[in-house]
Amino acid sequence: MRKNEMKLEFDSRSCNESFARVAVAAFLTQLNPTLEEVADVKTAVSEAVTNVIIHAYDREEEKVLVHCWIEEETLWVEVTDHGRGIADVAQAMEPLYTTRQECDRAGMGFAFMDAFMDTLEVVSAPGKGTTVRMSRHITHRNAEGPFDYRNQKVPVAIHME
Ligand code: ATP
Ligand code: MG
Repeated sequence: MRKNEMKLEFDSRSCNESFARVAVAAFLTQLNPTLEEVADVKTAVSEAVTNVIIHAYDREEEKVLVHCWIEEETLWVEVTDHGRGIADVAQAMEPLYTTRQECDRAGMGFAFMDAFMDTLEVVSAPGKGTTVRMSRHITHRNAEGPFDYRNQKVPVAIHME
């Protein structure tokens, strides 16, 4: 199978977080994933995009970049910002570590990305920005063939939340 890719660029507004996770989920459907696999990927994308919106830009609205590609049966997702960056990536990735305790943050975003994806890599430079790259091999494929929204009895909006 040839590599297939897509790129999104959008403003770092919280209203765009659901757009991003649904867009990645829609792209993923070509691998015929189970709903559980879709849910896992959406959670990871949601955490990465939310981090950009909350941490990267000091409340300024800047751009979030989401680059996805599929190679064989693996989905790769890169979420990039050009914001403040992370000085100590290993520390930031520790469960319960947060720099935004006052905003009721739990410090669990990277832990969730790690748990729900097969690989997770964070590249960051203070003052330059951050790229989170993660992948998920889609193994448990639906027996019924490609997921076709036109045949769904439940409205698409419910599946795509
Ligand atoms: P939660 O995700 O549970 O709401 P959190 O966002 O603080 O809390 P993580 O997602 O694990 O927890 O991130 C840990 C820390 O890494 C953040 O508190 C922040 O300091 C830093 N961080 C994460 N993503 C970015 C980013 N894109 N730009 C700058 N700093 C970031
Ligand atoms: Mg977070």
